[in-house]
Amino acid sequence: MSDPHELKVRNPATEEIIATVPAATAEDVDAAVARAVRAQARWAALAPADRARLLRRFADVVDARTEELAQLEVREAGHTVGNARWEAGNARDVLLYAAGGAERLLGSQIPAPGGWNVTFREPLGVIGVIAPWNFPLPIAAWGSFPALAAGNTVVLKPAETTPLTALRLAELALEAGLPEHVLQVLPGHGTTAGRALVDHPDIAKIVFTGSTSTGREVMERCARLVKPVTLELGGKSPNVVFADADLQAALDPFSFLDNAGQDCCARTRILVQETVLDEARAVLADALAAVVVGDPADEKTQMGPLISARQLERVRSYVPDDAPALRGSAPGGPGFWFPPAVLTGERHDSPAAREEIFGPVAVLLPFTDEDDAVRLANDTPYGLSGSVWTRDVGRALRVSRAVRAGNLSVNSHSSVRYWTPFGGFKQSGLGRELGPDALTAFTETKNVFISTEGPAQ
Ligand code: NAD
Repeated sequence: MSDPHELKVRNPATEEIIATVPAATAEDVDAAVARAVRAQARWAALAPADRARLLRRFADVVDARTEELAQLEVREAGHTVGNARWEAGNARDVLLYAAGGAERLLGSQIPAPGGWNVTFREPLGVIGVIAPWNFPLPIAAWGSFPALAAGNTVVLKPAETTPLTALRLAELALEAGLPEHVLQVLPGHGTTAGRALVDHPDIAKIVFTGSTSTGREVMERCARLVKPVTLELGGKSPNVVFADADLQAALDPFSFLDNAGQDCCARTRILVQETVLDEARAVLADALAAVVVGDPADEKTQMGPLISARQLERVRSYVPDDAPALRGSAPGGPGFWFPPAVLTGERHDSPAAREEIFGPVAVLLPFTDEDDAVRLANDTPYGLSGSVWTRDVGRALRVSRAVRAGNLSVNSHSSVRYWTPFGGFKQSGLGRELGPDALTAFTETKNVFISTEGPAQ
């Protein structure tokens, strides 16, 4: 039986335990929130330029530790080292962008007869950030850094399986000179530490990234306290490939294999115009056979392991050995390995085509024409990402406007840029992170009317 008071961190490529970390209790959460409340008053009182200066120094420290953070992400999350370096760089960039935002967070003045309205953007207070295991470092950064820049303090709970990079970030914040308790990281279980954060009356907002089912519970609990919440949830994104597309680029398997498919934006529904279906199948078969799966610390590796035995079981349940599929290969144990696969015998309404599998698995589905493509793309409870591939500009514009998702790309599989808004439609979430409005999501608007008429006689 596992000890509820500690978290064992396992390298998913070897199954070795690489660290044991204490799991926060509800009392630990209480104490952290009390410290964060005290720290927030001082942090918010700093001049925005001084907060920005400290955040830039923090970015410099993160930059200097890119390799260390990347290696930690490789060991605790099984990310390939190339991807992990990108993630550490992304955390630095989000910090720098947020620092600039701190200096540009403005209020306004609205004219009124007999006085002025002055509108302020005030920090909310203490923000609770709850992160998943699939991108531990970037998601800790996206939730926390804009909140800090706007004058809030943060209590961050990383996922049970991946607390190490977040813990290191909190140490680096102190090294950079951020005041104590401005960024606190509390590893713990979702149902104890996570719920305690959500239910805490002094947590002003929750930023939750994780599964749609947990997100639903978090939102219900926040509703009891009328607490604002940002939800970044699951996805089942379409990759819409028209017959005139560049098939090699459109069918890049890393559109769904990045991070072994444990990517909320993975394009796991490959919708291909029926006239090029056979050609698409051949392109995908060749591409899957060429994917290098193995030790994530090896520079040549393109895909690492799944995060856990549990996740491996889940993925296996969707891909029986006799299912019609195009398949790549993967190492045997130890480690939580699963070969990349594209299921070719699914209907659009089968579980594998509708549910988020969260592994290196996509389904291939044909469509007839533009209307059919849009209908299939939208036939999902999710709406996070998606791609449209065609050389016809008018069609690209029509389809990208008709697909109901928060992050679409045309002739590209890119989803995330720290300077553009990110988030989901429908059951993929609520609210946006990143981009120019990231800071305002961590503020309350206050209007003060100032009479110029003097006190009434
Ligand atoms: P999860 O919902 O199981 O857990 C996410 C976090 O919530 C963890 O820290 C967990 O400890 C905590 N938690 C669990 N139960 C809780 C509760 N009752 N109250 C409060 N906190 C609780 O998700 P996961 O399996 O860690 O992550 C995978 C999911 O995250 C996928 O569905 C993926 O699509 C989604 N995701 C979404 C985005 C996005 O930006 N939209 C990004 C990454 C991952």
